[in-house]
Formats: sequence, C-alpha cells, structure tokens
Amino acid sequence: MKTIFHLDMDAFFVSVERILDPSLEGKPVIVGGDPHGRGVVAACSYEARKYGLHSGMPIRNAFRLCPNGVYIHGHHKEYGRFSKAMKYLLEEKFPIVQQASVDEFYFDFTGCESIYGPPEIFAKQLQDEILQKLSLPCSMGISSNKSVSKIATDFKKPMGITYVPYGKEKEFLEPLAIEKIPGVGKKLFPVLQARGFRTIGDIANASPGYLAVLLGKYGTDLWNRANGMGNDVLSVEQERKSISSETTFNEDIVGKAEIEKYIFHLTSKVAQQLRNENWQASTISIKLRYSDFSTLTRAKTLLHSTDDDKTIYDTSVQLFRQAYTRRVGVRLIGIHLGKLNHSCEQEFLFEDEEIIRKRMLGAVTKIRDKFGANAIHIGVSEKD
Ligand SMILES: [Mg+2]
Repeated sequence: MKTIFHLDMDAFFVSVERILDPSLEGKPVIVGGDPHGRGVVAACSYEARKYGLHSGMPIRNAFRLCPNGVYIHGHHKEYGRFSKAMKYLLEEKFPIVQQASVDEFYFDFTGCESIYGPPEIFAKQLQDEILQKLSLPCSMGISSNKSVSKIATDFKKPMGITYVPYGKEKEFLEPLAIEKIPGVGKKLFPVLQARGFRTIGDIANASPGYLAVLLGKYGTDLWNRANGMGNDVLSVEQERKSISSETTFNEDIVGKAEIEKYIFHLTSKVAQQLRNENWQASTISIKLRYSDFSTLTRAKTLLHSTDDDKTIYDTSVQLFRQAYTRRVGVRLIGIHLGKLNHSCEQEFLFEDEEIIRKRMLGAVTKIRDKFGANAIHIGVSEKD
C-alpha cells in the first residue's frame, strides 16, 4: 500500500499577483485580461468566487456579476518561476515528484514516515513551510492513490489538508457529488445526471457492466475510481511537448543563403519561446517543402538539451544543408523543437561561463519581449 500526496496551490495566479502587488490582498481579483473583451477568467480569488465567479467563465459574465473586482492580465512568466520553485522545493524532499499542471503536484510519501513522521502531521508542516518560503497557500489530499488524493485536495480549500486512510476511500467518496470526479465535466455530467446518478456513491453502487455499456472503457475506469481505486504509480516522465514554427513563402525561393535567413528568424522565434517557458530541447528538426509539394524532414538529437539560439540555428542549418539537395524552389520551411525538459539553472552553479551566458540570454529575452524578435540578434546574424 502506498501513500500518495496530491498538492494544489490555492488560487495560484492570484496568490502570485498578491506577492507582486500586496495591495490586491483581500480584494476580488480576476486574472484574465480586459473585462469587456472576449477572454475567459484564468483564475480568480476566493473573494471573487463569492460573487459566483469561477475560472473558465467568459470574463464579460464575470464583470456583470462582479463589477467592482480588480481585473488584471496577469504575469505568466512569474507563474512559471513560482511553479518551478515549488517543484524544486518538493524534489528536495521526495524522490518521486510528478508535476500534473503549473500548480499541481503528486509525490510519493511511501516509506517517508521514518523521516518525516505521519503523513497528516507532516502535511501541515509542509504547508507552513511553503507559505513561509514562497508566500503561497496550498491544499493537500493524502490517500493510497492519485485519484482519491486529488479529490481529497479539493475537499477542503484553501489551506486544507484532507487525509483519507487506507480502507476508507469508498466511505469518503460516497456522499460527494459526481462532478467532484476529475473528468466528469460538461459532457459527462448531464449523461450521468439523466440516469439518476447524483453522488459518487451512486456510481460506486451501480453495476460496472452497466457503466461499461453506457460509457465504454471509461465506464469501468469511472466505476473503479468511484470505489476508491486508482493509479498509485507516479509518472515522472517529462511532459511531451514541442515548439515549432514554420513559414510559407509568398513566392518559392531558390538559393541556400536566402532560405537560411528565414531559418535564422524561425530559430530565433522558437528559441525565444523555449526560454520564455523555461524549456530546453533535445531534438531539433526541420521541415522542407519544395514547390512541387514534396516534403521532407530531418531531425537531430543533441547530446545535451539546449535553449541556446546559436546551437539551435547551427543545427537547423546543418540539417537544412543535408536536406536541400534539389535545385527546385522551396515553398515552406519549418523548425520543430522536441523532447523538451524544464531547464534547470542549478546544474550550472559552478560553471561561471555558463551562468554568464545564461544571464546574457536572459537579457536578450527581455529586450526581445519589449521590442520584438528583430530587436537584437546574437552573433550569428552577420553570418554568411
Ligand atoms: Mg490550483
């Protein structure tokens, strides 16, 4: 039997905004941009939730319900920084940490009792430590599997801790509304409601065969989860993600030098995005489409992952030169960065040169954010 923690930051974006601007404390704060625009609420404070606001709702509706709220666009890069700090803090304590979203983590506490004591007591200490070190409130759920722990986190918020001992999972879930199960949303909720399911207990007590007929494979999964069973294996694999950009030319282009200029702009753009989101890439590929629409791709996996403009540019050009063998016009060129992992500056703590280079790249990123991708080029712009 395992002990799996689920930890979710409380109103994460709003909490970060309050660190940046303490005058937002105690106010109904809505992150999501122009209250008269077409966007949705990305996050809102608990004060705003009292007006019926919730994330995902059209921001105009939010404004109608809560015209006195503070509406802000949000500082998304800061959210990424705090998210990373959270991950470091947890990784220092636990061997297996799975990041489920920007503000949500699972970690395996199995075997940690001898170091940290009983999980429900340790949870309070951890909550205090996070609040003290990062000024961020969070809630936690603890149980024998991921599914129950996630539901338990949501049970008491903000600053809640809910511990469901082994064997009590079904009892805990029974009275809760079906929409407390992650995945029972807009689509599934009406289907289940129409068939008389109100509580998770209703699902648990239904026949698994009936649910399988009703919902297919998901029906069985739902029945298992309603009965308190769930996955207890954390996946620490990096999230699969990629960044790419491509350009279709107004007129087909013949000539290496000309195309390589475009490669330069594309690589600058994707590298910028990579750094903004704190990723590093291990695979670089290019896509080339000739005027007759024949398309080919070439990829290279690097020895060390990178977010460096020059490495990405040099590799892309090298791939392009290998691929561009026909004297035919090119109508499209694309760059794709894959096998992404979160960059970790700590690895380079003792390599001064590396730090200086990183700082320089950071400065370049800032300038580009302000003035656009063409405002500054690193070294290679004069090449060829
Ligand atoms: Mg959250």
